[in-house]
Amino acid sequence: MGKQYAVIGLGRFGSSIAKELVNLGNEVLGIDIDEEAVDELSDDLTHAVVADATDEEVLKSLGLRNFDCAIVAIGDDIQSSIMVALVLKDMGVKTVVAKALSELHGKVLDKIGVDRVVYPERDMGVRVAHQLVSPNLLDY
Ligand code: ATP
Repeated sequence: MGKQYAVIGLGRFGSSIAKELVNLGNEVLGIDIDEEAVDELSDDLTHAVVADATDEEVLKSLGLRNFDCAIVAIGDDIQSSIMVALVLKDMGVKTVVAKALSELHGKVLDKIGVDRVVYPERDMGVRVAHQLVSPNLLDY
């Protein structure tokens, strides 16, 4: 049985996660403040809405509390990323995953209780290096 995921921020990182979660049989709500980003994905996701995710009332009214997992895929706007992650943890979302742009950003996310902090560029760099050294290792 699929789970319910919310992906906040539908840039390259967020939209890739959101589409793959759908492909894997899950329900995915995508949220972005930018209408164009939402339009682009509206056919691929279970639901896609235009909203400012730093607004706690918006997240409440979308029922985020009951989701299995929320992914904060806002990067550049570090303040928004931190605020959204904090609101989600305060609301009691079971698992919050957030993308960090720097070590310091990641540290703050850790301190506010984010369950998993990911560093997409850093982690992909490590992965590519491992694949270059051991080309037969398909899925490092
Ligand atoms: P990526 O590297 O994933 O492509 P990006 O550099 O295009 O990301 P970011 O600034 O990291 O863009 O933001 C990702 C998405 O998050 C953007 O589509 C942006 O509109 C959205 N976003 C930013 N702030 C908010 C917010 N407060 N509420 C909802 N969505 C937001």
